[in-house]
Amino acid sequence: MKLCKTCYSSFNASVSYQIYCSKICRDLATKEKIAERYAVLKRQKRKNKVRLCLGGCGQELSIYNDFGFCANCNVSEKAVAKMLKELKGYMDYEQE
Ligand SMILES: [Zn+2]
Ligand SMILES: [Zn+2]
Repeated sequence: MKLCKTCYSSFNASVSYQIYCSKICRDLATKEKIAERYAVLKRQKRKNKVRLCLGGCGQELSIYNDFGFCANCNVSEKAVAKMLKELKGYMDYEQE
């Protein structure tokens, strides 16, 4: 009995080097590997160019940043949303 590397269920290997229970699990593992390699490539591409925060603060983003905003702007974006909500509530109150 062996354990499938993808779904972790035990299976009877027909050949000694079989590490996946089925073709489905093997395909899934292959896809994951391709996705992983793609993510690495994407990060390597980022190394060659400077990406600046979309919040307009001029902060350089790390190659691991997938959001487009730096940590500061991520926070202040939430703060702005909250402020706008409060402002709207205030204006609704004014109209009554
Ligand atoms: Zn499996
Ligand atoms: Zn920023």
